[in-house]
Amino acid sequence: MKKLLLLGDEAIGQGALDAGLSGAYGYPGTPSTEIVEYIQRNPEAIERNVHRTWSANEKTAMEEALGMSYAGKRAIVTMKHVGLNVAADAYMNSALTGANGGIIVAVADDPSMHSSQNEQDSRFYAKFALMPVLEPGDQQEAYDMPKLAYEISEKYHLPVLMRITTRLAHSRAGVERNDVLKENENHMPENKDQFMLLPAFARKKYKHLLLIQNDLEQESEKSPYNKYFDGKDRSRGIIACGLAYNYLMENFLDENCPHPILKIGQYPLPRSKVQRIMDECEEVFIFEEGMPIVEESLNGFLGNTKIHGRLDGTMDRDGELNPKRVREALGLPELPSRNIPKVVAGRPPALCVGCPHIDTYKALNDALKEYGKGHVFSDIGCYTLGYLPPYQAIDTCVDMGASISMAVGAADAGFFPSIAAIGDSTFGHSGMTPLLDAVISQSNIVVVIMDNDITAMTGMQDSQANGRIEEICIGVGVEKEHIRVINPLSKQHEENVKVFKEEIAYNGVSVVIPRRPCIHVYAKKKKK
Ligand code: SF4
Repeated sequence: MKKLLLLGDEAIGQGALDAGLSGAYGYPGTPSTEIVEYIQRNPEAIERNVHRTWSANEKTAMEEALGMSYAGKRAIVTMKHVGLNVAADAYMNSALTGANGGIIVAVADDPSMHSSQNEQDSRFYAKFALMPVLEPGDQQEAYDMPKLAYEISEKYHLPVLMRITTRLAHSRAGVERNDVLKENENHMPENKDQFMLLPAFARKKYKHLLLIQNDLEQESEKSPYNKYFDGKDRSRGIIACGLAYNYLMENFLDENCPHPILKIGQYPLPRSKVQRIMDECEEVFIFEEGMPIVEESLNGFLGNTKIHGRLDGTMDRDGELNPKRVREALGLPELPSRNIPKVVAGRPPALCVGCPHIDTYKALNDALKEYGKGHVFSDIGCYTLGYLPPYQAIDTCVDMGASISMAVGAADAGFFPSIAAIGDSTFGHSGMTPLLDAVISQSNIVVVIMDNDITAMTGMQDSQANGRIEEICIGVGVEKEHIRVINPLSKQHEENVKVFKEEIAYNGVSVVIPRRPCIHVYAKKKKK
């Protein structure tokens, strides 16, 4: 089999395809986006007709994957860590319905918040849901793990979470391919009530889920991804989870770490291996990307002075790990480092020159001049960059869809004017339901849906609401005459200011749609 040079994300996509994948579902979100993108353009996936379109949001993606699993085939659902919050209802319940055809829930976490609103660690969700986790330490494991994930998923009728973090998701390495497995045939679940969560069934299923935890732990004990490497110097032992193992070993390029190491790539934690390192070593250092979930569980409520990590201050509590931070925590002498060349200049984020949002914001700012600052509730996307000078056009950013809901709440408080700024794809993701709320409660708000024809920020994916925005707004009950489409161009500035002013003056729900494609849209669409 030929060797491929793959990003961690791409390795998951290829691994799932080679393990008999029939359907990939997801919503784009950095750093997870490339998993579905890879499957979308993969010639073998195209030839096999593997399902591979984006979903409206993470929750619908999770449910669609469950549907494919119900029908007996293998599915993958992908999202970034904050997307798992959106999918959480379906995700938590999927631990009770379980799987028929195997399901991988591939979640990419973003410690250090390179392009995210928080640092949450998806392993907490898996613990919450009592679901097994596979956490690759390199691209080869990211490729190999889907096969095991599907085996576990189908053996225990349970989805498996695959957790990856930014650095691995977005770095490349050579990957050795395995044989390609055949896709499952359609088949119904043996137990026809498996996917029926009536309380009487759910209670039984929850007991069953608790019962199999011990079996899942036994799977971890024998897992090839949980390895114990002995070392001569037992004054210290090291538990390294996922990518942290790579960071650790970059400090021992001769592979000659003198201390015992327990490398963790599968959860629940393998108790006897953990017990061994705790018994054999005087002190135990724990390195894990994200939150100190392993450290906390081994520490216990009253603490354990033998354990070192993020909780006792050996390392900072927040932020991404790297080889240097691991080195410092172990007290190893500093390595000589290269200076960053001058050509590598800092690039603060900014709207692209010629971005359509610029003219929208200029018009909106002028329309709002008489009301002062603080009136625009924003959503998540390129337009969030409108917070920065020189535009300073938006005032909030919380989560997907929050612009409209927050504007509704502020209007309920008597705040005027109350403006929501949202993009076309974000509107399709989670803006439609709060717009329905606004219509039902006759909120006095203006919703600005900035239609740039694409999901720009995550890399130009198709947008579900694209071409349907007016119909959706009419469908949820916005009056036709208060759905105004404008062209965000400087030559239209006066006209656009006038439209914004008119809709602010209207006492009810208005929608203004500034419509002009992102300047990168044609180049990207041409490539497809
Ligand atoms: S990518 Fe497109 S939408 Fe985003 S800032 Fe640039 S031009 Fe604007």
